[in-house]
Amino acid sequence: MFIDWIYPPRCISCRAIFPPVYKGKKRYLCDDCTSLFVPLSEPLCKKCGHPYVSQVAAQVCPSCKMTSTFFTVHKAAFAYGDTIRELVLSSKYHSQRQVTEGLGELFAKALKTQNVNMTGDCIVPIPLHKSKLRTRGFNQAAILAKPLATAFNIPMAEHLLKRIVKTVPQSSLDSVGREENLIGAFSCENVVGKKIILIDDIFTTGATMNTCAKLLLENGATEINCYSLTIALKKDGFDDD
Ligand SMILES: [Zn+2]
Ligand SMILES: [Zn+2]
Repeated sequence: MFIDWIYPPRCISCRAIFPPVYKGKKRYLCDDCTSLFVPLSEPLCKKCGHPYVSQVAAQVCPSCKMTSTFFTVHKAAFAYGDTIRELVLSSKYHSQRQVTEGLGELFAKALKTQNVNMTGDCIVPIPLHKSKLRTRGFNQAAILAKPLATAFNIPMAEHLLKRIVKTVPQSSLDSVGREENLIGAFSCENVVGKKIILIDDIFTTGATMNTCAKLLLENGATEINCYSLTIALKKDGFDDD
């Protein structure tokens, strides 16, 4: 196409020019960068999806045993690494919508490859506060969620959850502070009888997902399952908004 000649398709990570269609399938990463996107593999905590080697049948990590978790399960598509970290950060803070769209396609593809059977009444991205949405121009979680809605044939309900309080960055807080920071931060519409899928870019302690899951259950939802593009350890110091 003419447009490809003026703006040749590039790898969303290293910006190398490469053939974006291979064997009839659209691609977003070159071969070198594909190998840097490591799919998350077992052993994982059966609740939060963090890497965890279990000696017992419960297979739930100590952190999940100690805290009340309101979602049923969380699963991340990719292990946390320098490449994905840089991409998520740069696309988020430099408003690179196209890169985020590419990440969303990779997200959906990875979950399909991992044989994830995503079912529910609607897909709900973790919302941004409207002031942040204004400066960034888009909600990263919503862009990531769209290819999942298509791939798993589940409708998006982008405005079902709202962030009504502008909170301080989660990365500046410990796990207790993260939970307290989010009290009263969200509101939701009527969700009676609904099975809901929550989507976010990065899962760290899970405080954001857990707060939203609790609110949705209190408002009548029957089950909440969560999926993230990638999962970070708290020591990574990631700001998960
Ligand atoms: Zn590349
Ligand atoms: Zn866990």
